[in-house]
Amino acid sequence: MPRSPRIAVIGSANTDLTTFSDTFPRPGETIFGTRFDLGFGGKGANQAVAARLCGADVVMIAKVGNDLFGEATIKNLAAFGIDTTHVGIVDGVSSGVAPIFVEPNGQNRIIVVKGANEELKAADVDAAADMLKTADCIVLQFEIPLPTVYYTIAFAHKHSIRCILNPAPGQPVDIAKLAGLDYFVPNETEAATITGMPVGNIAEAEKCAEKLLAGGIGRVIITLGANGCLLAGQEGREHLPAFSVRSIDSTGAGDAFIGSFAVFLAEGLPEREALRRANLYAALSTTAVGTQKSFYDRARFDAAWTAQARNIYASS
Ligand code: ADP
Repeated sequence: MPRSPRIAVIGSANTDLTTFSDTFPRPGETIFGTRFDLGFGGKGANQAVAARLCGADVVMIAKVGNDLFGEATIKNLAAFGIDTTHVGIVDGVSSGVAPIFVEPNGQNRIIVVKGANEELKAADVDAAADMLKTADCIVLQFEIPLPTVYYTIAFAHKHSIRCILNPAPGQPVDIAKLAGLDYFVPNETEAATITGMPVGNIAEAEKCAEKLLAGGIGRVIITLGANGCLLAGQEGREHLPAFSVRSIDSTGAGDAFIGSFAVFLAEGLPEREALRRANLYAALSTTAVGTQKSFYDRARFDAAWTAQARNIYASS
């Protein structure tokens, strides 16, 4: 039997503290809320969970604080079967948290405290180097310090390890430092922030991808929400439409897309096939509320994939 793909995620882990109330408190006011939900998040952790649920052996390289949230984060990752050997606990700083306040109309106010995520440094990548060299793919996002991201891209390139960067949240970057990257996977907003170009439709996404490719990035994939994704390389561009699902909450769709794509590629599927499957995996995550809680496991995904294929043949 072939071994499972090995995916290393170097990124953030946060705890979402979602508080629901009838109104927001005014300055100086204390009110009673109606409900509270504690959820595990952070783009790094979400992508690690998606990759694990797709069947990969996953190692998470991250930093948490020496507090209740850090402990719970590690427990949550371990409960999914993710290797947490390289999740460091930092004293004197909190874990990454996101207090989220939600009104009945869905309006929300969010404060993200990066906390320990800011402490993930190049030295932590070096400390995990032996393990990283055995990975099929390294997955990165922008919720850790940019110098750590740049360092890891160079490390992956030097050791010929496939590297996928999800530049989220979007922020100005030095595109020259991303040269050598295998896959650059922004959503429309992130692509627009990074290139300064509008990305409101497929034609604009193509122009934006061209600019990124000219900067030396190997392949660019721009995710387009309900419009699927655009794949761009030196040989041309291709739009892959989304799967039609009953979508109710798209939170975490991008994380589902990235985590699953890394696994499908590492399994040896051709890029286009891996992308089609990632499109479906991400679409399915929008059919339930939540982020990690909405991700399918491999058996459910395979059943949905087979059913989709049957529908396509039946309707052709
Ligand atoms: P993000 O969550 O980072 O904003 P997107 O909104 O671009 O990312 O979504 C990522 C992927 O999720 C898309 O490329 C698509 O495959 C899938 N997706 C998102 N929204 C939908 C939807 N409403 N219907 C079907 N697929 C969707």
